[in-house]
Amino acid sequence: MDTTTPTLAPKAHVISLFSGGLDSSLSVLLMLRQNVQVTAITFMTHFGCDLSDRSSCSSNPYPAAKQFGFDVKLVHLADKFVKIVQDPTYGYGKNMNPCVDCRILMLREAKDYMEMVGADAIITGEVLGQRPFSQMRPKLHLTEREAGLKGRLLRPLSAKLLPPTIAELDGRIDREKLEAICGRGRHRQMELAKEFGLENYPSPASGCLLTDPEYSRKLRDLLQHTPHINFIDLNLLQVGRHFRLTPETKVIVGRSESDNNKLEAYAEPADWLLEVMDTGSPVTIVRGAPTPEDLEKAAAITARYCDLRTEPSVEVTLRQAKDSRTLRLEPGTAEWVESLRV
Ligand code: SF4
Repeated sequence: MDTTTPTLAPKAHVISLFSGGLDSSLSVLLMLRQNVQVTAITFMTHFGCDLSDRSSCSSNPYPAAKQFGFDVKLVHLADKFVKIVQDPTYGYGKNMNPCVDCRILMLREAKDYMEMVGADAIITGEVLGQRPFSQMRPKLHLTEREAGLKGRLLRPLSAKLLPPTIAELDGRIDREKLEAICGRGRHRQMELAKEFGLENYPSPASGCLLTDPEYSRKLRDLLQHTPHINFIDLNLLQVGRHFRLTPETKVIVGRSESDNNKLEAYAEPADWLLEVMDTGSPVTIVRGAPTPEDLEKAAAITARYCDLRTEPSVEVTLRQAKDSRTLRLEPGTAEWVESLRV
C-alpha cells in the first residue's frame, strides 16, 4: 500500500500524539491513507519517556516517520510534567504514574500547536479499553473535555466506537476508513501492520518509569523529603542504590562504572563524593545537609559495597568542592545497610 506523501492537496491536517509504537504508527497510517497530512509530536519527560529508553511510553519516532513520509517534532514537557507528577488532579495509577493528567497535558500542548499551525484535529493511538486506568470510555471522554478538544480529538483505531469528530462529520476524514478496535488484544493491529508494510515496531511498552514500583518508591521518598526538587534530583533517581539517613540527607551508591561516572557528573558543589581508593569501589554521593555522623554512616555504607568489605576496617575518602578527608571505619553490616534502603 502506498502511504508516501500524496500528490493531491491533503483533505485535512492533523497533529498526532506519536510515541513511535505500533498503535500510534497505525493511527498515523490510517490518516495518510486518506490523504490527510500528519504532523507528529513526540513528547519527552524526565521520567523515562526518552527515545532510547525501551521501558518508556515512547520509542524512536524517526524510523516510521522516514518510512512513511511525515514530520516529527520533539517536545520536552520539563517542569510542566514534574508539576503533575507532584500533584495530579486525577490521581496516580498503580504506581506514581499520573496517566490521566499526563494525557491531558500532552493533549493541551498538542492543541496549542494545532491552533498555531491551523490544523483540523488531533489524533492519538489510544484504543478503547486497552489500558485499565486511562483508556476506558469515561477516561477518554474526560481527557477530551479537559483538554478543550471536544469534537477535535480523533482516535482512529477506535473511532467507529466513539462519537464522530467534526472532521468526520463534515467529510474531511472518512469515518468508514477508520477502525473499531476495542480491548487489549492486538490481532487487528497486527493485520493492519501487515497491510501497511509496517515492520520492526517495538513491542508494547508497559509505560514510563513512573509505572515501575522501585522507581516510584524512590520518587515518593524524594517528593516527601525535598520541597524544591531539581532536575539533578530527578536524574539521580535512575542511578544507583538509594538510602535515606535523615529527612534532609540521602545517600546514593553506584552499582556499576556507568553509575559511578554519572554520580561524579551530577555532583553539585555542596554534595560529598565518597570512594575507597585502590580497590573495586562504588562512588557514593551524599546530598542534603549531612552531619559528621551522617558522613560516617555514608562511609560505612560505601565500605560495605567495596571489594574490601570483609576487612575489619576500610579507609574511605570523602571529597567536596572545598573540603576533603578520610575516615577509617568498619564496613556496615548487610542488615544495617538494608534497613536504610529507600
Ligand atoms: S505511563 Fe502514564 S504517565 Fe507515563 S508517559 Fe505513559 S501515560 Fe504518561
